Amino acid sequence: MNIEILGAHNCESQNTKCVSLLIDDTLAIDAGGLTSSLSFEAQQKLKAILITHQHYDHIRDIPTIAMNFFLQDATINIYSILPVYDALSTHLLNGKLYPKFLEKTQNNPTIKFTMIEPYKVEQVEGYSVLAVPVNHTGPTVGYQVTSPEGKSVFYTADTGPGLADCWQHISPHLLIAEVTVPNRYEDFARESGHLTPSLLKQELISFRELKGYLPPAVVVHMNPRLEKEIEAEIAAVAEALNTRVNLAYEGMQLHL
Ligand SMILES: [Zn+2]
Ligand SMILES: [Zn+2]
Repeated sequence: MNIEILGAHNCESQNTKCVSLLIDDTLAIDAGGLTSSLSFEAQQKLKAILITHQHYDHIRDIPTIAMNFFLQDATINIYSILPVYDALSTHLLNGKLYPKFLEKTQNNPTIKFTMIEPYKVEQVEGYSVLAVPVNHTGPTVGYQVTSPEGKSVFYTADTGPGLADCWQHISPHLLIAEVTVPNRYEDFARESGHLTPSLLKQELISFRELKGYLPPAVVVHMNPRLEKEIEAEIAAVAEALNTRVNLAYEGMQLHL
């Protein structure tokens, strides 16, 4: 399994993109930086996109990718939970802001949307996908994706602390976790459903206690302006737990 981090941040600029992961060129998770990262050729290789929740930084490239597929007379598969479907069809692909790409045209829909049920393994383009609810401000699922060879990655999506229940359901070889702000913003993180390095540390300790191991972890969704601080605090977490935790960056390649 090859994972490319297309977007590693929570804000877009010339050098930073919102969160998007790409697995083996065909399966994407979240659409914060898809069209801006991929050539048309690379976009055409995409078979499916898993969406974690409806916040704009995670869905923003759905309209643009849909337009590109529409103009190619092609279909893109999107998988997510019901609230994401509702938000997209009501507020974005509603015929006012952009075409109603979610409505089925006869044989050849631009978007084929499949509702995902948490805790139920779904087969997506040859991968086993398990959606697990996490603790964000609205309905949000993290995804464990397992390749046909049995390699698996879990991406937490946006989440605050309290992941012990979530950990019960997964056993990944690699953990991609959100850390949005440094430790001094802990109150903000708890209120807005995000993690700091020290909150992530507690979650990693609970993972190790529950599962008896700790996979290497990669951190995404950083606030770019606070990244230096986050990086230093993450290094301290990795050292304290004697494990590998690295900050992601746009273009980072991970092999499992
Ligand atoms: Zn969010
Ligand atoms: Zn976000």
